[in-house]
Amino acid sequence: MYYDAAEGLSRLEIERLQLKRLKTTLKQAAKSPFYAQRFKECSVDPEAVTSLDDVKRLPFTTKQDLRDSYPDKLLALPQSEMVRMHVSSGTTGTPTVIYHTKNDLDWWASLMARCMHMVGLRKDDVFQNMSGYGLFTGGLGIHCGAEKLGCLTIPAGAGNSHRQIKLLMDFKVTGIHIIPSYALYLSTVFAEMGVDPRTLPLRVALVGAEPYTEETRRRLEALYDMKCYNSYGLSEMNGPGVAFECREQHGMHVWEDAYLPEIVDPATGEPVPDGELGELVMTSLGREGMPIIRYRTRDMTRFLPGTCPCGREHRRLDRLQGRCDDMMIVKGCNIFPMQIERILMAMPEVGQNYLIMLERDGFIDNLRVKVEIRDEYFVEDMRQLAALQKRIVARLRDEILVTPKVELVERNSLPKSEGKATRVIDNREKGA
Ligand code: ADP
Ligand code: ZN
Repeated sequence: MYYDAAEGLSRLEIERLQLKRLKTTLKQAAKSPFYAQRFKECSVDPEAVTSLDDVKRLPFTTKQDLRDSYPDKLLALPQSEMVRMHVSSGTTGTPTVIYHTKNDLDWWASLMARCMHMVGLRKDDVFQNMSGYGLFTGGLGIHCGAEKLGCLTIPAGAGNSHRQIKLLMDFKVTGIHIIPSYALYLSTVFAEMGVDPRTLPLRVALVGAEPYTEETRRRLEALYDMKCYNSYGLSEMNGPGVAFECREQHGMHVWEDAYLPEIVDPATGEPVPDGELGELVMTSLGREGMPIIRYRTRDMTRFLPGTCPCGREHRRLDRLQGRCDDMMIVKGCNIFPMQIERILMAMPEVGQNYLIMLERDGFIDNLRVKVEIRDEYFVEDMRQLAALQKRIVARLRDEILVTPKVELVERNSLPKSEGKATRVIDNREKGA
């Protein structure tokens, strides 16, 4: 039933293994110039770690640390041992480099294959990876997992929607990896081509790399008649394959044999009580080339309490709310873009794209939401459109407590990206 033995470990076994691997990881990390210095400055003695709880006494590693260590101060082995590097896509600021040895890549591919096996993909599946290749980990990361599982793997890459659809049809693809905003967009291309995606043999989609809501998942499942499983990862922790939903579709199991997750208060760095929202902090437990200790992901989530009905005892992370720095403050209210997406994607009149704009009018911040409307609702009758607009404003106001300006626009009139979507444009600095 399980892909490998580690998937079925009990809590006790997981924690024993974690402690053993944490100790090895600390020793390995100490070989890198960065951690050698950091451990010295913070008087960290890897030998003094005797329980998992001791991890809380270790220093954090931040994105800035990774930038400062550019290009190779985090390497724990000579560069000649490294066989690949990836660069984080740089959604926020200067990118960072992550190196992998042969063993690191093998382990990563196994973790990814484990995720895919968990949601029912097998060697006789045909798998199309529709995310960018190159430096982005969603390409090769997923690709190597799919090959390890034995699937016929199509490295379609990002964009070129007509070709994507042709490949999906010609090769009777049953599994895909796709970014949620692109999956929404691709459904409009299907419609233009007069093909109903529900008629394809597609059954499983790995959907991740950017935040999206439960409402978007449901919408995608209905549009394509396939199951969508949330997939979470970040380059600093390899990439995809860090946490993944099982068939219960309720929270993502973090593979705790490979990672040590913590949730902390983003302001203080102190652990939050179990089950509360905070920033995810991750330690790699298996990497030999470039171990990373207590990495501040800036991603906001919580551990789901209780055990999963699937029987796996690796803890579950709740759907990610976005990054701590995604939070917008408008008229004194804290707003996450995903709150807006949740409302929009639950409305049948709303199409497959939206854009949030922040503007400053004198001293007042305004929130403008541009919303694509489905063709059948984009009618001539101004009264009907005005009523729809009012309804969207009211629903958003109930959720975010600020009255937004809502603009209804036609299908595919908003900018789209082949990679991660830009959901928010902040023009406030330029204004006033
Ligand atoms: P970048 O930080 O430049 O975007 P990565 O390609 O490493 O670089 O992206 C990792 C980030 O993508 C995560 O830290 C997280 O913010 C986001 N992410 C990945 N998967 C998901 C997911 N399933 N849900 C929400 N956010 C995700
Ligand atoms: Zn489960």
